[in-house]
Amino acid sequence: MTGNRTFTMIKPDAIEKGVGGAILKQIQEAGFKIIALKQTKMSPEQAGKFYFIHCERPFYADLCSFMSSGAIIPAILEKENAVEDFRKLIGATNPANAEPGTIRKNFAESIDKNAIHGSDSNDNAIIESNFFFSELERIS
Ligand code: GDP
Repeated sequence: MTGNRTFTMIKPDAIEKGVGGAILKQIQEAGFKIIALKQTKMSPEQAGKFYFIHCERPFYADLCSFMSSGAIIPAILEKENAVEDFRKLIGATNPANAEPGTIRKNFAESIDKNAIHGSDSNDNAIIESNFFFSELERIS
Protein backbone atom coordinates (compact mmCIF):
# COMPACT_ATOMS: atom_id res chain seq x y z
CA MET A 1 0.00 0.00 0.00
CA THR A 2 1.36 3.41 -0.91
CA GLY A 3 0.58 6.92 0.35
CA ASN A 4 -2.71 7.00 -1.54
CA ARG A 5 -4.56 4.78 0.92
CA THR A 6 -5.88 5.21 4.42
CA PHE A 7 -7.89 3.20 6.93
CA THR A 8 -11.12 4.28 8.60
CA MET A 9 -13.58 2.82 11.05
CA ILE A 10 -17.09 4.12 11.66
CA LYS A 11 -17.54 3.84 15.44
CA PRO A 12 -20.37 2.24 17.48
CA ASP A 13 -22.06 5.57 18.32
CA ALA A 14 -22.57 6.38 14.64
CA ILE A 15 -23.79 2.87 13.75
CA GLU A 16 -26.19 2.94 16.71
CA LYS A 17 -27.61 6.27 15.51
CA GLY A 18 -28.11 4.85 12.02
CA VAL A 19 -25.80 7.33 10.27
CA GLY A 20 -23.25 4.82 8.94
CA GLY A 21 -24.66 5.11 5.43
CA ALA A 22 -24.70 8.91 5.53
CA ILE A 23 -21.04 8.91 6.62
CA LEU A 24 -20.05 6.54 3.81
CA LYS A 25 -21.91 8.83 1.36
CA GLN A 26 -19.94 11.86 2.58
CA ILE A 27 -16.67 9.88 2.26
CA GLN A 28 -17.45 8.86 -1.33
CA GLU A 29 -18.61 12.36 -2.28
CA ALA A 30 -15.26 13.68 -1.00
CA GLY A 31 -13.55 11.54 -3.66
CA PHE A 32 -12.44 8.49 -1.68
CA LYS A 33 -12.77 5.11 -3.40
CA ILE A 34 -13.71 2.14 -1.21
CA ILE A 35 -11.10 -0.62 -1.50
CA ALA A 36 -12.46 -2.80 1.33
CA LEU A 37 -15.52 -2.56 3.59
CA LYS A 38 -17.41 -4.65 6.14
CA GLN A 39 -19.48 -4.46 9.29
CA THR A 40 -18.14 -6.32 12.31
CA LYS A 41 -17.76 -6.08 16.09
CA MET A 42 -14.56 -6.14 18.15
CA SER A 43 -14.10 -8.01 21.42
CA PRO A 44 -12.61 -5.94 24.28
CA GLU A 45 -9.32 -7.80 23.67
CA GLN A 46 -9.31 -6.93 19.96
CA ALA A 47 -10.09 -3.28 20.73
CA GLY A 48 -7.24 -3.31 23.24
CA LYS A 49 -4.89 -4.59 20.57
CA PHE A 50 -6.06 -2.10 17.95
CA TYR A 51 -5.61 0.86 20.33
CA PHE A 52 -2.52 -0.49 22.12
CA ILE A 53 -0.61 2.66 21.10
CA HIS A 54 -2.84 4.50 23.63
CA CYS A 55 -2.37 2.01 26.49
CA GLU A 56 -0.67 4.59 28.74
CA ARG A 57 -3.44 7.17 28.24
CA PRO A 58 -5.99 7.61 31.09
CA PHE A 59 -8.90 6.95 28.72
CA TYR A 60 -7.56 3.64 27.33
CA ALA A 61 -9.96 1.39 29.30
CA ASP A 62 -12.99 3.53 28.40
CA LEU A 63 -11.88 3.65 24.77
CA CYS A 64 -11.56 -0.14 24.51
CA SER A 65 -14.87 -0.65 26.28
CA PHE A 66 -16.67 1.79 23.97
CA MET A 67 -15.08 0.47 20.78
CA SER A 68 -16.17 -3.08 21.62
CA SER A 69 -19.69 -2.05 22.71
CA GLY A 70 -21.34 -2.33 19.30
CA ALA A 71 -20.97 -2.73 15.56
CA ILE A 72 -18.26 -0.94 13.62
CA ILE A 73 -17.65 -0.44 9.89
CA PRO A 74 -13.93 -0.63 9.05
CA ALA A 75 -12.84 0.34 5.53
CA ILE A 76 -9.79 0.93 3.36
CA LEU A 77 -10.00 4.09 1.25
CA GLU A 78 -8.03 5.31 -1.74
CA LYS A 79 -7.40 8.86 -2.91
CA GLU A 80 -4.37 10.98 -3.68
CA ASN A 81 -2.90 12.19 -0.35
CA ALA A 82 -5.40 9.91 1.43
CA VAL A 83 -4.17 10.06 5.04
CA GLU A 84 -3.92 13.84 5.26
CA ASP A 85 -7.06 14.57 3.22
CA PHE A 86 -9.10 12.09 5.27
CA ARG A 87 -7.96 13.61 8.57
CA LYS A 88 -9.19 16.96 7.22
CA LEU A 89 -12.50 15.40 6.19
CA ILE A 90 -13.16 13.89 9.64
CA GLY A 91 -12.11 16.98 11.64
CA ALA A 92 -10.71 17.44 15.15
CA THR A 93 -10.84 14.62 17.74
CA ASN A 94 -13.22 16.70 19.86
CA PRO A 95 -16.24 17.53 17.66
CA ALA A 96 -16.65 20.81 19.55
CA ASN A 97 -13.40 21.90 17.87
CA ALA A 98 -14.12 20.36 14.46
CA GLU A 99 -14.55 22.57 11.37
CA PRO A 100 -18.08 22.97 10.00
CA GLY A 101 -18.91 20.34 7.38
CA THR A 102 -16.48 17.75 8.74
CA ILE A 103 -17.77 14.27 9.56
CA ARG A 104 -17.19 14.71 13.28
CA LYS A 105 -18.94 18.11 13.28
CA ASN A 106 -21.86 16.59 11.37
CA PHE A 107 -22.22 13.29 13.24
CA ALA A 108 -20.18 13.11 16.49
CA GLU A 109 -21.44 13.97 19.95
CA SER A 110 -18.33 14.06 22.19
CA ILE A 111 -14.56 13.48 22.31
CA ASP A 112 -15.04 9.81 23.18
CA LYS A 113 -18.10 9.13 21.00
CA ASN A 114 -16.64 10.85 17.97
CA ALA A 115 -18.20 8.79 15.16
CA ILE A 116 -15.13 7.86 13.13
CA HIS A 117 -11.45 6.89 13.14
CA GLY A 118 -8.88 7.88 10.53
CA SER A 119 -5.25 6.71 10.37
CA ASP A 120 -2.69 9.35 11.37
CA SER A 121 0.17 8.15 9.11
CA ASN A 122 0.85 5.97 6.08
CA ASP A 123 2.54 3.37 8.28
CA ASN A 124 -0.45 3.16 10.62
CA ALA A 125 -2.82 2.99 7.64
CA ILE A 126 -1.05 -0.20 6.55
CA ILE A 127 -0.97 -1.70 10.06
CA GLU A 128 -4.64 -0.89 10.70
CA SER A 129 -5.78 -2.14 7.28
CA ASN A 130 -3.97 -5.43 7.86
CA PHE A 131 -5.59 -5.73 11.29
CA PHE A 132 -9.05 -5.99 9.71
CA PHE A 133 -8.71 -7.11 6.10
CA SER A 134 -7.18 -10.06 4.27
CA GLU A 135 -6.00 -9.67 0.66
CA LEU A 136 -9.14 -11.49 -0.49
CA GLU A 137 -11.34 -8.80 1.08
CA ARG A 138 -9.74 -5.99 -0.96
CA ILE A 139 -10.47 -5.13 -4.57
CA SER A 140 -6.74 -4.78 -5.30
P1 GDP B 1 -7.88 10.75 16.77
O1 GDP B 1 -6.62 10.38 16.03
O2 GDP B 1 -8.46 12.09 16.33
O3 GDP B 1 -8.93 9.66 16.75
O4 GDP B 1 -7.49 10.98 18.31
P2 GDP B 1 -6.44 10.27 19.29
O5 GDP B 1 -5.52 9.36 18.51
O6 GDP B 1 -5.84 11.32 20.14
O7 GDP B 1 -7.37 9.39 20.25
C1 GDP B 1 -7.91 8.16 19.80
C2 GDP B 1 -9.34 8.07 20.24
O8 GDP B 1 -9.39 8.02 21.66
C3 GDP B 1 -10.21 9.27 19.88
O9 GDP B 1 -10.73 9.22 18.57
C4 GDP B 1 -11.33 9.16 20.92
O10 GDP B 1 -12.30 8.19 20.51
C5 GDP B 1 -10.58 8.63 22.13
N1 GDP B 1 -10.24 9.71 23.04
C6 GDP B 1 -9.36 10.73 22.86
N2 GDP B 1 -9.32 11.54 23.93
C7 GDP B 1 -10.21 11.02 24.82
C8 GDP B 1 -10.60 11.38 26.14
O11 GDP B 1 -10.15 12.39 26.70
N3 GDP B 1 -11.53 10.56 26.75
C9 GDP B 1 -12.03 9.46 26.14
N4 GDP B 1 -12.94 8.69 26.80
N5 GDP B 1 -11.69 9.08 24.90
C10 GDP B 1 -10.79 9.85 24.26
